[in-house]
Amino acid sequence: MDFFDEILDKAKVAFDVAVKTTEDVAQTGKKKFNIASLESKLSKDYKALGEVFYNFKKKGELDNEAVDALILAIDDKIAEIETIKEEIRKAKSNRVCANCGAAIDDDIIFCPICGQKLEFTTEE
Ligand SMILES: [Zn+2]
Repeated sequence: MDFFDEILDKAKVAFDVAVKTTEDVAQTGKKKFNIASLESKLSKDYKALGEVFYNFKKKGELDNEAVDALILAIDDKIAEIETIKEEIRKAKSNRVCANCGAAIDDDIIFCPICGQKLEFTTEE
């Protein structure tokens, strides 16, 4: 590879990294929006559950189907929020496995996906 090719190659890598970072920022924004939307739906579920129990205490009739459905819905949303938070955390670290490309936490020495020993990147 001659000198000029090498310069072009380095420029392309820098460009790709910049594009990737911009995409990550956009993705994180979308994910944070999804979390806010899920949390809003979650408080509606809790409110509905509260109403079911209010009616139970007031009238003595417990709508078990409604309770079960709401608990499932709440658990689903909590799990989804946790998954998204984990994705944001991993995107933030920007560290990827040199072998398989998996997103890696800052403090991990071996890739959890392929077992590759990972170098610590000190440059910022
Ligand atoms: Zn790996």
